[in-house]
Amino acid sequence: MALREIVTVPNDVLRRKAHKITTFDKDLQKIVDDMIETMREAPGVGLAAPQIGLSERLIVVEYEEDDQIEDSPKKLYVVANPEIIKVSEDTELGIEGCLSVPALVGEVERNLEIVVRGQNRRGQPVKIKADGWLARIFQHEIDHLDGVLYTDRAIRVWKPSPEEEALIAD
Ligand code: ZN
Repeated sequence: MALREIVTVPNDVLRRKAHKITTFDKDLQKIVDDMIETMREAPGVGLAAPQIGLSERLIVVEYEEDDQIEDSPKKLYVVANPEIIKVSEDTELGIEGCLSVPALVGEVERNLEIVVRGQNRRGQPVKIKADGWLARIFQHEIDHLDGVLYTDRAIRVWKPSPEEEALIAD
């Protein structure tokens, strides 16, 4: 595994529509491992391939099952070609940040519950039901694959206090 450099705005790759993944070969496994390592090192709760300069439809998400409990187990998701196939009508405002948009956070409205369809790192179909914080992370990461940044959707963006920095989504 190797750490990759995280690209930041205004790098063009963050604004491109990423390519569909069609080959689940050794090279892809290496990219997935590098993305996981880079996300953990950052640290972040999610990372999309364009954030390491690769215009590919691939995301990794690692989420603490219960962020109210210390050392709650973390669940790792690797999704290629993720698509949101269902959203709840209910939405929620929440604070997000992004490793590719340093030193800012913003308040973004997201769907409370979603269903994501895609493929795992071996190319097998997966379906994930997510709500709350996890649903927010998936919506943020999948946006990256279409060249959309949370700052495009935010109702306001500001420089966070140290307490707010602890809340940064990815
Ligand atoms: Zn981001």
